[in-house]
Amino acid sequence: MQELHEEEFKRTDCLKCANCCKTTGPLFTDKDVDRIAKHFRMKTQQFISQYLRVDEDNDYVLQSVPCTFLGADNYCSIYEVRPKACREFPHTDRKKFQQIFNLTLKNVALCPAAFNIVEDMKKRIK
Ligand code: SF4
Ligand code: SF4
Repeated sequence: MQELHEEEFKRTDCLKCANCCKTTGPLFTDKDVDRIAKHFRMKTQQFISQYLRVDEDNDYVLQSVPCTFLGADNYCSIYEVRPKACREFPHTDRKKFQQIFNLTLKNVALCPAAFNIVEDMKKRIK
């Protein structure tokens, strides 16, 4: 999977897509919240009330999508300090990839790169 992931992301230009940032937001861990609030020189609580909400799984997520930090040019305005979930999306290079297979099946619907990786994986299995 790591090999397929690397090959796919040599071809894929995420700046021409940004569908993940436009259609689904990341989870924000406590570390993400602290780091990004610091970046804006905001108090953690102030950052949370301005940008985040707690979802049904008790996680911090964006109040709205497209992501408020996404620019019209598809650049992320907080790229250096972006949430861990954004850095790792679409998670196709995970070591224990089989453990998140259900998540990947959801992601193929929104991420063309994940779709291609899974299609390549299917070809190799055949
Ligand atoms: S949806 Fe996939 S291909 Fe599109 S920007 Fe996100 S990671 Fe890149
Ligand atoms: S924080 Fe940046 S990378 Fe993450 S969803 Fe928002 S724009 Fe995309």
